[in-house]
Parts: sequence; C-alpha cells; structure tokens
Amino acid sequence: MSKTLALAKALIERKSITPSDDGCQAILVDRLKPLGFNIETIHQNGVTNFYARKGSASPLLVFAGHTDVVPPGPIDLWDSDPFIPTEKEGKLFGRGAADMKTSLAAFITSIEDFLEQHPNHQGSIGLLITSDEEGVATDGTVRLVEMLKKRNETIDYCIVGEPTSNQNFGDTVKNGRRGSLSAKLIVKGIQGHIAYPEKIKNPIHEIAPAIDALVKTTWDNGNEYFPQTSWQISNINAGTGATNVVPGHVEVLFNFRYSTSNSADDLKVKVENILNEYHLDFSIDWSHSGKPYLTKKGYLVDVLNDSINEIIGISPDISTTGGTSDGRFIADICNQVVEFGPLNESIHKINEHVFLEHIDLLKNIYQRALEKILIKI
Ligand SMILES: [Zn+2]
Repeated sequence: MSKTLALAKALIERKSITPSDDGCQAILVDRLKPLGFNIETIHQNGVTNFYARKGSASPLLVFAGHTDVVPPGPIDLWDSDPFIPTEKEGKLFGRGAADMKTSLAAFITSIEDFLEQHPNHQGSIGLLITSDEEGVATDGTVRLVEMLKKRNETIDYCIVGEPTSNQNFGDTVKNGRRGSLSAKLIVKGIQGHIAYPEKIKNPIHEIAPAIDALVKTTWDNGNEYFPQTSWQISNINAGTGATNVVPGHVEVLFNFRYSTSNSADDLKVKVENILNEYHLDFSIDWSHSGKPYLTKKGYLVDVLNDSINEIIGISPDISTTGGTSDGRFIADICNQVVEFGPLNESIHKINEHVFLEHIDLLKNIYQRALEKILIKI
C-alpha cells in the first residue's frame, strides 16, 4: 500500500472533531522526530498545535494544515462509518479524507522521500499544524504565529494543504482569500398596537430603505486578483408572533466578503454613514474574522504551477475564491502563502472522499515543490 494512503487512513481513524486532535499530531510527530525535526507544542483551551522545524538556514519552506474535522452529521446517512477509512470505487471515504488529512499525510511522506533523496539540501523545512481550523480558530494557527512573531522568526514560503482543486485534481491554486467582516445590527422603533400607527414607530419600515441602499452600494470594483466586495444579509428577525403588534426592534445579521481594495474600517464607516443618512436609531456589533491576504503572482505561485504541471500536466487557475483559511494568519509572518490540495467537491459533506489515484500525485507535487525551493531544480 502507498505509505501516503496508509498514513491518511491512520489519521482518518482518529475522531478529531474540532477542536479535538485525538492523537493525530502524535502520529505526525512520531514520523518527524526521526527525520531530525525540532518540535514545539502548544496546548490551549482544548486545542493542540505544533510547530516543527528542521534546519536553521534560509529559505524556510513551511507546510501548514489542520488535524481537526467538521462533525460527520447523521452517521446513518454515510455509506460507511466516517471514522473507518474505507476504499471503494477508486475512492477513500472518511471524514477528513479531503479536508485535510490526505494533505497532512502527503506533507509527511513528501518530506520523508525528499530528505532521503536530497540529504544535503539547502534551507529549512517546517510544519505548522493546528486542531482549531474548522471551529472558532482562536487558539490554533494564530497562537503558533504569535509564538514565531515573538522571536522574529519569519517564514519565506508557506504551502497550506487546503483542498483547492475544483473540477479536476490540480486545476486550482489559491494565492489569497477575501476578508470576512460580520455585523449584528439592531434598529429600534416603538412597539405598539398595529391599529394605532400614530403611537408606534415601525422598525421594519424604518430599515427597509436603508437595506435597499446597502444592497445597491458598490463597495469597490475588485482588482486583478479579487472579485468586487460583496455584502449579504444572512438573517432578519423582527416581530412578536402576534399579527396585531408592531415590533419594537428589528435585528439584521450581515457579512462582507471583501477584497484587498477595501478595509474593514472603511466598510464599517460606509455602512454607518448609510444608516445615519436614514436617521435610524441603531446599535451595531461588528466582528472581524479575517483580513484578506494576497500572494501576488511570482516565485511561489510559479513553483506550485510548475510542480503541478510537471507531475500531472495541468496548468492551474490562480484564484482567491472561497471562504477564509488559516492563510490569513500565516500571511502576517510570511510574504508568500499559497494553498493547494485535493478536490473540494465532497468536503464537509456526507461520504467525504478523496480519489485514490490523486493521493500519491499530491505527495509528488509537494515533493517537487520541496525540490524546486530547496535544491533549485
Ligand atoms: Zn480545511
């Protein structure tokens, strides 16, 4: 059996539902120690993280990823137990198969093979691994980055193993992600009997034209790397349930996915200006879950592009679409962060899987990237 497949299976067997690691990192560390990696572990609030590094020279190439998975959902909807790795019809099934235990396995085996073939390489290799990516992500990668920042350790190149392939394996590399800014907006009115409009102030009527204005606002036009910033309402709640009562307030939850042509602070000001134009009595509670990050086309993007091309003959799209990732934290101490991994079509779903034929190709692509950066082939 392919050793990457065997390791992926050993990881899938662990029920590491976020933020639990359930022993996954011990499996990885056991493989890294004999290779000469120095390991530092941070345990915090039920989260397990480690940073491993071999060598002290530049350039430093770090592989980053997470051992936690999302809950499986109703187990009886799965064709096989989500925590018993199962090979069927050319696929490996199990929670985390695509997001992202196969990538973790490929990190390890690509490093093992690279070191065996090129023991005298230049530079250093690192791994930055957390069990808090799928959850709130407050004690995960961000803590490891803080630790490195404190001692002024920077990363030259980082490859995040998120499942970025879209339609075909190898078709997409992510070189950035949009920022995410959420808010809970409460607009106050005056509650009262629906039959006495002179005694009430209907907050739903008050907010309606402001929502229209917000929907029609162009926040920016995007740029070469990002689509334009999008503003979306996810929830609106008002009403007492009674048909003869005008409610006292309306609550609106919304979110921005924003490009590097904008900033969270600017967006907050723009929204509050619009709400003020409509003379609303409001309170707003912002929560900023991630700045956008961007690695411009250049060295690391080329390395990934060429590695994929040489192994599977595909030229990937370079894209910044999708949700946030831990790349946003790593970008703080690393100018070049890219993400590449298996197909994302089944992630977080029932019957999550990875194609068996992609497992060793993924390992070969990571290994080729190691070779390009650390022995300059
Ligand atoms: Zn993931």
